[in-house]
Amino acid sequence: MSGRSARPRAARGPRRDLLVLAAVGLLGAGYLLLPAGRVEVLGYAVLAWAAALVLVRAVATGPDLRPWRAMVAAQLLFALAETVSVVQRWQGRAPFPSGADAVFLLAQGLLFLAVLRLLPAPRGGVRRGALLDTVVVTTSTGLLFAVYTVLPAFGGDGDLPARLVAAAYPLCDVAVVFLLVRVTGWRDGRPRAFWLLTLGLGSSVVADVTFAVLTVLGEEAAPRWVRLLWLVFYGCVAAAGCGPSAGGLGRPPVERRSEPELVRLPLLAAAALVPPVVLVVEHAVLDVDHGLALGLVTVVVVALVLVRLADLLRVLHGQAEVVAQLAGTDPLTGLPNRRAWDAEVDRVFARAAADPELAVTVAIVDLDRFKAYNDAHGHDGGDDLLVTAARAWRGVLPGAFLARWGGEEFAVLLPGLDADRAGAVLRAVHAAVPHGQTCSIGVATWDRAEVPPAVLARADAALYRAKRTGRDRTVHAEDRAGDDAGDRAGGRGAVRGAAAGSAPAALPAPRSA
Ligand code: GH3
Ligand code: MG
Ligand code: MG
Repeated sequence: MSGRSARPRAARGPRRDLLVLAAVGLLGAGYLLLPAGRVEVLGYAVLAWAAALVLVRAVATGPDLRPWRAMVAAQLLFALAETVSVVQRWQGRAPFPSGADAVFLLAQGLLFLAVLRLLPAPRGGVRRGALLDTVVVTTSTGLLFAVYTVLPAFGGDGDLPARLVAAAYPLCDVAVVFLLVRVTGWRDGRPRAFWLLTLGLGSSVVADVTFAVLTVLGEEAAPRWVRLLWLVFYGCVAAAGCGPSAGGLGRPPVERRSEPELVRLPLLAAAALVPPVVLVVEHAVLDVDHGLALGLVTVVVVALVLVRLADLLRVLHGQAEVVAQLAGTDPLTGLPNRRAWDAEVDRVFARAAADPELAVTVAIVDLDRFKAYNDAHGHDGGDDLLVTAARAWRGVLPGAFLARWGGEEFAVLLPGLDADRAGAVLRAVHAAVPHGQTCSIGVATWDRAEVPPAVLARADAALYRAKRTGRDRTVHAEDRAGDDAGDRAGGRGAVRGAAAGSAPAALPAPRSA
């Protein structure tokens, strides 16, 4: 107890987990060199205890390691079970099932709970996609376990308890595989402890499967390299608990929306291919036949994968819509951008070409002396003017298509409006310019013969004239002759201008309409 308050971090340091891992490597190599027989068996049990006690110490001195308590209990039980089995082997007794098996299975159950606690499902619950993936992979893996370990074990020699216990071991591994697949959705918050823990669990599953298959083939004891894999399991779990990131486990991480879908694809592909491949191998190479089981599982797995793919396609379609929306939107003002403008122009002109009654007018609106405004109010102030103006114009242009043309220029598409009616609408645009600023507008009405870019070019030329003749006004492209006259006269006579806020003047009919 005094150790806990005096040296709270004694068992965990920045690289303590790596030190433990290095020790696991060294001791594991040493274990391989031990003389076979009693020394090796004893060495194995000692190493299992050493790993468990290192974890006990780390968790006892780490105030943030409460979620690790079930894991500590599991590892102590594993060490105890190893000890019982060593004693039994020394005594030359190898009953099955024995007390060691009872403790092993208890430890496996605790391990399941411990992993559930340390590697929780991502926040927001297990989503449908993650759940389907997990079911697909577990079904496929579970099938192999079932066909090659559980069923042979259950159908093997011995009484019912013996066969039940033999079958229970691989089932525990299926449960661990289920937990591991479930956490492939973890994207953020994969600390080193996460990797050490999953490495250890993976090592344990591989060792268990190998041992189960060897047992079915008639082997009595696990070979040394399989036992080394179990030691790696104990060592990695201990190392995970000793590192600085151990406290980061146990809190559900946030799952990013789309990434995990792709992360699990190779896993899904493997899961879908395993049953048919095994079927082929059994048929062509091995003289065994699990055709019915493998066929049924293939049907289930393929059906689930197809459901999964349909889900993915739906997600993809949704994302494509979002991307298309973004591609056509100006990020600053939220207005349609030039790309969206071009598409809308094509659509509206095609409609107008088919409908002789439908007039189309386009306008280009340009803020006056915006550069000076930028200089006076800063770039952010300029941005704010653009945003506020866009919002105000959208309010006074219902039914029109307003887009940001570029910089401080905006384009307005007015389907159904001839030059006169467009002029009335555009007076509202002048009046709506915020922050005491003004704008100039060039307008052109489609002559029903020219291509859309030509209409825009005429509107642009009209805008140029509006600027040239004093700004804060609307000039219609069809007023070219009058404009020149007005220019020559040095006044605004033929230029259809309306100062912001002034009473709109009655617009004469366009000359070339
Ligand atoms: P005019 O009355 O002749 O239209 O003069 P102006 O100053 O409005 O036009 P000019 O073409 O000389 O300057 C436009 C300025 O708009 C220059 C550029 O820095 C600024 N600008 C372009 N895009 C943005 C933007 O997204 N944000 C801000 N704040 N400024 C921009
Ligand atoms: Mg300008
Ligand atoms: Mg400009």
